[in-house]
Parts: sequence; C-alpha cells; structure tokens
Amino acid sequence: MDIKENLIDIKNSLPPEVCLVAVTKTKPVEDIMLAFDTGHRIFGENKVQEMVGKWEVLPKDIEWHMIGHLQRNKVKYLAGFVSLIHGVDSLRLLKEINKQALKNGRVIDCLLQIHIAEEDSKFGLNENELQEIITSTAFKGLKNVRINGLMGMATFTDDNEQIRKEFRLLKTIFDDIKILMPSISVLSMGMSSDYKIAIEEGSTMIRIGSSIFGTRNNNV
Ligand SMILES: *Cc1c(COP(=O)(O)O)cnc(C)c1O
Repeated sequence: MDIKENLIDIKNSLPPEVCLVAVTKTKPVEDIMLAFDTGHRIFGENKVQEMVGKWEVLPKDIEWHMIGHLQRNKVKYLAGFVSLIHGVDSLRLLKEINKQALKNGRVIDCLLQIHIAEEDSKFGLNENELQEIITSTAFKGLKNVRINGLMGMATFTDDNEQIRKEFRLLKTIFDDIKILMPSISVLSMGMSSDYKIAIEEGSTMIRIGSSIFGTRNNNV
C-alpha cells in the first residue's frame, strides 16, 4: 500500500467541489503523517477515544471529523477541537453538543445523519424526524451548533442500482431541506466502495479509508 500515492490519485480524480475526508480509524499515527506530508489536513475517526489520542500527538492544523455514532456522554472530550461532527441524529445529542461548544467558546459544525440504507442497524433520521428537529423552537435556541448539511450511508451491497437509489434519495432530502435552511452546503455521502456513485448523485464530501490506507483487519 502506497498511502501517499493512493491519496494523491484519489484527490486528482475528484471534481473540485468534492471534499475528501481521509478516514484513519484503526490506523497508526505514522500512516496519518504520510498523508499529512502530502498536504492533506482533513481526517476522520469513528471513535472518540481514538480521535482524542491522535489529536493529542499530531499537528494541530489537522481538521478532525467525527464520522461515527457519537454518545452524548463523550461529546465533552472532543468539543474543544473537533471540526465537523457527521453523525448527529437526535435533538438530545445536538443539545449536548451545543452545551459543550458553549463551554469551549465555540460554534461546532454538524451534519444531520439520515437513514437511507435498507439495514436497520445503521443510525439516522428519516425525513419527518429531520423536519421536526429543524423546525422546533428548541433547535432555534441552539446558538453554538451550526448545521452545515446532511450525511448518509448506503446499504452494504454489490447492487449499484440500489446504492444509487439511496444516494439519490438523500440528495432529494438535501434539496428539500435546503429550502428551509438555505445555508446548508455539505452532503457527506460515499466511501471507498461507492464514492464514485455518490459523486454522480451529488455528494460534496466523501469519507475514504481503505482505498487510501489499506483494509482494516478488524471489521470496523
Ligand atoms: C469506516 C468509515 C468510512 C470509510 O470506509 P472505507 O470503506 O474504508 O472507505 C466512511 N464512513 C464511515 C461512517 C465509516 O465508519
């Protein structure tokens, strides 16, 4: 695996409006530094403890994205430095992020996670729940969180048409919600196996791990 070459090849293949999050979960800081040395600064982790540990030892100009499911009791550990939280799927979590952001004197950028996959194991809101949150008075009072857009994960399948259908659904929801919240601009969808389809369907942010850093031995 040539991490630098993989990263540069993928980046060169992307349309300019698509942002790449290099997903480094389970990978050592040495691997992250190889990517860093190419000039890349946006990295994603799915576990709070692992992200905090890496943030502590790595250069401070890295932008850390939390891409995994976030538990409310762990928000405090990353609130001081996280640059984007992708997987927000409840008002309760958003309130906690707001509270911890306030404590840190920050406004934290978030994406609301939408459930588009067939599997029910994946987290996320449906369109009604999404509408409910963003039209609620409680939400309007949260001054230390900013919703930048939506995030979703397609079903894990070989069926490209299924994947495309799910990404298309997410894009439709994104366009609907943009009428209520014109400031949103980020649509985070697409991983190593499906990012090309995601981009064709309107993704503006892809989260790529194994195609850059190699496969992970544990199944996360
Ligand atoms: C692990 C992970 C990715 C990256 O997966 P790859 O298949 O390795 O590219 C993207 N998004 C989320 C939410 C992840 O947990």
